[in-house]
Amino acid sequence: MVKEDKFAFVEAFLVGRSQQQTRRSLQSVIPLDSVHVLKRGKSLLNFSANDYLGLSKHPALIAASQDYAQRYGTGATASRLVTGTYDIHQQLEADLAIACGREAALLFNSGFQANVTVLGALLDRHALVLCDRLAHSSLLNGALASRATLVRYRHNDYAHLESLLQQAETQTYSRVVIVSETVFSMDGDRAEVDLLAHLAQTYNAILYLDDAHAIGVLGAGGIGLAMAHPGVDLAIGTLGKAFGAFGAVVVCSARLQQYLINACSGFIYTTALPPAVIGAIAAALKLMPELEGDRQTLASRAADLRTQLQAEGFDTGPSTTHIIPVMLGEAERALHLSQWLESQGILAAAIRPPTVPPGTARLRLALSSQHTAEHLGSLIGILRSGHEQWRGGDRVSRVGV
Ligand SMILES: *Cc1c(COP(=O)(O)O)cnc(C)c1O
Repeated sequence: MVKEDKFAFVEAFLVGRSQQQTRRSLQSVIPLDSVHVLKRGKSLLNFSANDYLGLSKHPALIAASQDYAQRYGTGATASRLVTGTYDIHQQLEADLAIACGREAALLFNSGFQANVTVLGALLDRHALVLCDRLAHSSLLNGALASRATLVRYRHNDYAHLESLLQQAETQTYSRVVIVSETVFSMDGDRAEVDLLAHLAQTYNAILYLDDAHAIGVLGAGGIGLAMAHPGVDLAIGTLGKAFGAFGAVVVCSARLQQYLINACSGFIYTTALPPAVIGAIAAALKLMPELEGDRQTLASRAADLRTQLQAEGFDTGPSTTHIIPVMLGEAERALHLSQWLESQGILAAAIRPPTVPPGTARLRLALSSQHTAEHLGSLIGILRSGHEQWRGGDRVSRVGV
């Protein structure tokens, strides 16, 4: 019998987090438009959302959502293999497959759920999974839960990956799966998909790429960097970011799709996506070819912002996309700058360990095509004054010591 408080571990965890100043809490906001939110009654310019094209507020998505809910109801009422597959689910999967030039597509209820459970279905405890060191938590969770042998290769270091593939050839693994993001969510840099595809082919490995931050934004017609790449065996696109909706899609061969329908627990044992969500995704997919101008605006704003930040002496890390870290090192400094920005009307999340490696705390700026040059100007101005303030404060405290 447990004698002490059975929730002592909860208390110890929370107290520990508070002491290390890494305890997190939820803070609610009310969206005003695609780049502004209301927080504690104050309007803030938001640089932390993943609504890269502003589609979550697009009238076509809202109208399709309402229309599908009106016609099909608010819930899908069952899992996909029971009676939760409506014609709109299958139509959308067919359209997504065509858009990606693939044999098949399969919807999932979230990117997290897809990564954890599709990897679970692909791996067994005799498999080897080679995962980029900076890959998203959901990919790591999937790899760990499968009990496969997990080796993390140095970020975007394909010589390292290749040496691991060579070592694997001398072993008796059931199969080898290479896992990476295409655009890294905290650094905004890119994997080299052609190189990964070449390595996968050379070493007969399965290539699994997460296109969460590229789908809708990069690649021909905004199709992403992996979704339509013939050398990628399975590509995951999340639909809650640039697609402005919710859920995820896995594209692959027809054979793999059949396998997942029969073997992937995260597909089988969950209620199908609701009609309103299917409507929003379908409307976003239909809009995608028309959004080339928005994608170009987003890319040029991102290039401008990087240039301006660098001119102010900020380190933007390896970013080449619309995700731009402002590398600050210590968590305290990132928090200070984030709080200063908020006091001046700008929302930019401080990202700290354990989300990123120790000593690499940063602000993560995520741009939208709806951010204007004026928005960037005010961000830069406020960052500059926050930076000067910090340096001033830093000097004082050093004199104090
Ligand atoms: C956001 C994200 C996910 C999770 O997708 P959700 O649909 O939000 O669950 C998975 N992978 C990466 C790389 C992400 O950035």
